[in-house]
Parts: sequence; structure tokens; C-alpha cells
Amino acid sequence: MTVTVASYAAQSATDSMAPFNIERRFPEQDDVAIDILYCGVCHSDLHQVKNEWGNTLYPCVPGHEIVGRVTDVGTSVSKFSVGDLVAVGCLVDSCRTCESCKEGLENYCDKYPTMTYNGIDHRHGKQVTFGGYSKHIVVNEGYVMSVPKNIDPAAAAPLLCAGITTWSPLREWNVGAGQKVGVIGLGGLGHMGVKFAHAMGAHVVMITTSPEKGADAVRLGAHEVLVSKDKEQMKAHRGSFDFLLDTIPVPHPLDPYMMLMKRDATLALVGAVEPMPGFHGGMLAARRRRIVGSMIGGIRETQEMLDFCGEHEVVADVEMIRMDEINAAYERMEKNDVKYRFVIDMASLPEA
Ligand code: NAP
Ligand code: ZN
Ligand code: ZN
Repeated sequence: MTVTVASYAAQSATDSMAPFNIERRFPEQDDVAIDILYCGVCHSDLHQVKNEWGNTLYPCVPGHEIVGRVTDVGTSVSKFSVGDLVAVGCLVDSCRTCESCKEGLENYCDKYPTMTYNGIDHRHGKQVTFGGYSKHIVVNEGYVMSVPKNIDPAAAAPLLCAGITTWSPLREWNVGAGQKVGVIGLGGLGHMGVKFAHAMGAHVVMITTSPEKGADAVRLGAHEVLVSKDKEQMKAHRGSFDFLLDTIPVPHPLDPYMMLMKRDATLALVGAVEPMPGFHGGMLAARRRRIVGSMIGGIRETQEMLDFCGEHEVVADVEMIRMDEINAAYERMEKNDVKYRFVIDMASLPEA
């Protein structure tokens, strides 16, 4: 049994996003049914819709920064009740039995997690998953999180991807007081990275290609701004960083950023999850520098991040859009004109 739900989909890499009806399952015993209130717009949505990673399954309904209200729960659901404000991020299932799943790192599931959209739902007949650009969603309770009551639910939506993707590596590599931390790229991920690194007590440097974003970077929590196109500025910061968080959304050389790193410093790559140009091995070896990667976060740590955001009143800086403004929002994102996350008000999408 399914129910027809209004959504927005791309039918091909060249089509604009347009209204599209999808089918959602009725909640099973361990499912939560959610009315979607808000959905953030991640640069990954754009990569996926335009098939920039070469793996898009059409029709594609993106959206993995979901905040909504519980409308129904299955008979065995214990964590949630009707009326709760909840969130769904980038994954809606995983194998639940591998070492990573058992450790609460479902994002690194050995069998690859079921992504919220463009994923394959093995428990339900290998259906392609549809994301949050939609009125309703049904998700297993193990992949649903609670949203703190004291934060703006629209501005909380981007925490589900931009938030956790920056939170997780900052925590994993113990960023904190006494460290100089650079966040590369002031977009959706980068602006959350700056807020979190600041909240964790680090000395934060915004590393940007856009000098005009400098004042915003400082307002968001950066102590310094480094314009990466300015050779003199890059030289002045050589060998001084403990940690770099790289959110650049396209392949790019790492050598200029490695030059900025101290001995034993770490560069965490989260932006360009695709083939990258090579780097100078000597630059990595000479100061025992490290390049690491990180992909979103597990369910438990995402809830920890949300709770932290409740305690510290941290949310994203958002620009609200209507569902039918999504194509224009993508064009602006491509032109690097986002301050600093678009969020769709799902009330603007009529029911199916
Ligand atoms: P975004 O809002 O578009 O921000 C990206 C920022 O990177 C831009 O604001 C810009 O900042 C900088 N930038 C853009 N083009 C650049 C270029 N050619 N060279 C250098 N810097 C450039 O994107 P986002 O939503 O933050 O996503 C960033 C990337 O992370 C995307 O590729 C996305 O797919 C990926 N992602 C990965 C994960 C993961 O789990 N690893 C999760 C979510 C997203 P400045 O103007 O400050 O330079
Ligand atoms: Zn995302
Ligand atoms: Zn697993």
C-alpha cells in the first residue's frame, strides 16, 4: 500500500526541476511518517540533479536536510510520538549489522547506507529513494532525529547535512582551544564549519576566494580572513595551521593548502568527493602532514550535534525560498551567490 505525495523532481540532467507525484509506503511497525516543513538545499543536490557524479537515477527528487512534524508512528516505535518536531538527514537506512553500523557510524556502513535520495532501498523491493523536496516522508525510526525545541526549525534544516558534515571531522580530529583552524570555502558547509570551530574554542581563519565575504566571515565567527587568491596573504600564513576543513565543491589542487599546514597538521577533505588532481608527496612527507576524508556523520553523532546546537543556539544563516524558486536557487548556487543556505518552505508546495 502506498500514498501519492507531491514532490519536485528532475527527469534528466538537462531538465529543470518540476512538480512530480511520487508514491510513499504506509508506515510499517518501526516507521515514522513525517509532514515535511522545511528542506535545505545542498550543493550535493545540484551535483546529483545535473548528474555531475555520473550515478543519478531519474526521476531524481533531491533533499536531505529535512525538518518536519510526525503525523503517524508504527506500533513498535518508541522514540517518537505524533506531533514531535523531527529531522532526517542524508541516510534513511543501512545494513544495521556491520561493524560501522554497530558502532553508530551508519554513514560508513560496509554495504553503503541507503541514501535519502538517489539511494536503493533494499528492504522495500530495491526502490529508488526520493528525498525531501516533497510534502511527506516515511522513515525507519532508527534514522530519525529530534530537533531541539528552542531553535528555529527552518534554520535547523541545514544542520542535517552542512552541519553534521563539518561537525563530524572537527570532533573526530579534536579541534579546540589553542589551535589554528582554517575553513576553506564560505558556502553552506563552510559557514557551519566556521560557527562550530568557533564554538569549539579554536582560532578560526576563513579561507576564501571571495574577499567580499570577509565581513560575513567575521560575523559568523572567523577571527581572520585569508583570501586564497592573494599570494602574499598565503605566504604570510605558511606552516601555521593545525587543521584545515576543505569544502570546495569542485576538484582542485591541494598543494597550496598543504603549504599552510604545520608539522602533523590535518587537512580534512569534505567538499570534492570525486577524482582530484595529484599532490606533491614531498609536501605531505616533509612535515608528516595528513590528508583525511569524512562523509556526513552517524545518527548518534548527528543527534549530539543537534543537541549541541540547541544548547548553544547555533543554526544556519538561511534564505527561505518557495518550492517553485528552486531552479533559480540552483543557478545562484552555481554562481556562488548563496548566503549561506537556501531552505525551501514546503508549505509553498501544494498537496498531490
Ligand atoms: P556551496 O554552498 O556552493 O559552497 C561552496 C563554497 O566553496 C563556495 O561558497 C565558495 O566559497 C567555494 N568555492 C566554490 N567554487 C570554488 C572554486 N572553483 N574554487 C575554490 N573555492 C570554490 O556548497 P556546499 O553545499 O557547502 O557543498 C560543498 C561541497 O561539499 C559540495 O561539493 C558537496 O557536494 C559536498 N558535500 C560533501 C559532503 C560529505 O559528506 N563529504 C556532505 C555535503 C556536501 P568562497 O566564495 O568562500 O571561496
Ligand atoms: Zn548535503
Ligand atoms: Zn552496515
